[in-house]
Amino acid sequence: MTRLLLIGPPGAGKGTQAVRLAETYGVPAISTGDIFRSNVKNETELGKKAKAYMDAGDNVPDSLTNALIRDRLAEQDAEHGFLLDGYPRTADQVRELDEFLAGHGQALDVVVELVADPDVVVERLRKRAVEQGRSDDDESVVRHRLEVYSEQTAPLIDLYDGRGVLVKVDAIGAIDDVTARITTALAERGIALPDTATR
Ligand code: ADP
Repeated sequence: MTRLLLIGPPGAGKGTQAVRLAETYGVPAISTGDIFRSNVKNETELGKKAKAYMDAGDNVPDSLTNALIRDRLAEQDAEHGFLLDGYPRTADQVRELDEFLAGHGQALDVVVELVADPDVVVERLRKRAVEQGRSDDDESVVRHRLEVYSEQTAPLIDLYDGRGVLVKVDAIGAIDDVTARITTALAERGIALPDTATR
């Protein structure tokens, strides 16, 4: 049973690592960004409400995001663990998550901070803008997303550190190397790879 959270600036590689880690540890990767993007694509009511915020690089309002994550975490596949990517990113979202977990007799095991230099993430996002054409990877929007991150999300790192659940991992380098750093850091926290745990 593993409950993990990935935190870090846009472009740190949370999404990439989340998919790999979820597979390794056998838990669902839950990305609020992906859920919002698929709602925008399918033109759902939620997507229509979220789109303008996303395009501007602003956080979608907590009320919408919290309702979404409550529903998602209540699904059966998340009962025995999950990996959250991109949530919580505000103090209000932390309160919501705390309340949800406490209400289910659960708690987070580890919060992994992906540490990346702003210059590096800006460059990565510039490349992604060309390759994937994400509407929020436009240069001025990227700059704004980084500001929103430092104002609203970065303070949460200290909060989790104070709770003793934070590990910092260098997110610069090859994708495989970063994954290996994370699994090593998790092993040091007593979260073994499922394979090695059963051997
Ligand atoms: P990144 O972290 O690289 O900016 P995400 O895919 O996590 O990308 O998020 C893209 C956008 O989706 C955000 O800029 C925001 O508008 C919205 N979003 C995602 N997660 C949240 C959240 N937890 N709270 C509010 N808005 C969110």
